[in-house]
Amino acid sequence: MAISVDREKCIACGACLNVCPVGAIIMVEDKAYIDQDTCISCGACVGQCPIEAISKGTAIKAETKDISSYNDLWVYIELESGEPCRVGYELLGKASELAAKSGQRCCAVLICAEPGEVPRELFAAGADIVYVVSDKIYSDYNTELYTNAFCELVEKYKPSAVLVGATADGRDFAPRVAARLKTGLCADCTALDIGENNIVQWTRPALGGNILATILCEDTRPQMGTVRPKVFKVKEVDFFRKGEEIKYKVKNAIAAKTELVRKERVCSTGICKIEDAEIICSGGRGMGAADKFKYLEELAGLLGGSVGGSRAVVDEGWISHPQQVGQSGKTVTPKIYFAFGISGAVQHIAGMHDSDVIIAINKDPNAPIFKVASYGIVGDVNVILPKLIAKIRAVKEA
Ligand code: FAD
Repeated sequence: MAISVDREKCIACGACLNVCPVGAIIMVEDKAYIDQDTCISCGACVGQCPIEAISKGTAIKAETKDISSYNDLWVYIELESGEPCRVGYELLGKASELAAKSGQRCCAVLICAEPGEVPRELFAAGADIVYVVSDKIYSDYNTELYTNAFCELVEKYKPSAVLVGATADGRDFAPRVAARLKTGLCADCTALDIGENNIVQWTRPALGGNILATILCEDTRPQMGTVRPKVFKVKEVDFFRKGEEIKYKVKNAIAAKTELVRKERVCSTGICKIEDAEIICSGGRGMGAADKFKYLEELAGLLGGSVGGSRAVVDEGWISHPQQVGQSGKTVTPKIYFAFGISGAVQHIAGMHDSDVIIAINKDPNAPIFKVASYGIVGDVNVILPKLIAKIRAVKEA
């Protein structure tokens, strides 16, 4: 049962801040805000609020469904410029493994303007069935239209479980679908397995990354979860694999209330998405100021990489949230991860510890980042970064 704050009522007295045993309450725009990732729903803050602005919600009673009629594992395939995002292939690989283990089918769901060759690629990547909903209205992702189409498909074909990539759009789409279908959603899973009665075991970090919780959705269907990009490896494709394509036409079409006005690229280096970069130059509060990030951009440009950072610098407004690495940001597994002036808090390490090589630069020899670093340099980023850039430039120009 989630704890929530009535922000209209909150008088910002701060009484709740001190009683929270896990530090889940912070002040945002002079109102108490509960970080639901950290909150353990103990309710200690509820009685402490002098004006009863904090309450413990009642659990949504699940509708009784005949769950035995729900079968198969579905993967929602997100498209970018008409091509499946990599996370779709990663999830298909995992779903096909779980489907084989549980005697179910692995299915992909494609909502798009025009499927082209994509279904064939999805069969090659492990899908036994590809459900296709195609219409020009789906040329760009739209929460309402995509949710409507997907929920109709679920109601007709009854999947046992649905996997969605925890991308920006996936994090918008999956909770909307789960709420509409009155089922649960386990967000940001890092491991999946399947047990008796086709119950998926969704594992994700909890309590600030200090424990791993395995969550089951026993009473409602479909079971739903999001998984971050790069958590699973892409399975080898087999273009001789065949499957069944099922085309579906939405019966109860709706008009969208929102409209995509324009798309903008927000990155300055060649690789926009840090999760796709093989080299990431990340900066933390130790960079000292926003304008110092131009050195990281220069370094990333020289190495063909991308710029990332810690939550501290996102909170400072030095870089944007899509560049944040860590528990509440992105999981990355580049070949080289540079950490300039990053302390190495558990929440940051959670997002980058699987990088092949980690190079940490920090003036504090006891900084926790050195515990996970392959190479460590104890020193001032203001001294080391310009020298590193000059050296790499000289090698490239030689
Ligand atoms: P600091 O902790 O302030 O560290 C700065 C470092 O820079 C220090 O080690 C210092 O020695 C070094 N330094 C200072 N000056 C220099 C210099 N001139 N040269 C070299 N080194 C220097 N954090 C994330 O990063 N990602 C997340 O996704 C994330 N999610 C979170 C989720 C929750 C629920 C919570 C509670 C926290 C989360 N955090 C996350 C925050 C995390 O706990 C840390 O506060 C954050 O990572 C600290 O960022 P930092 O290392 O940049 O800053």
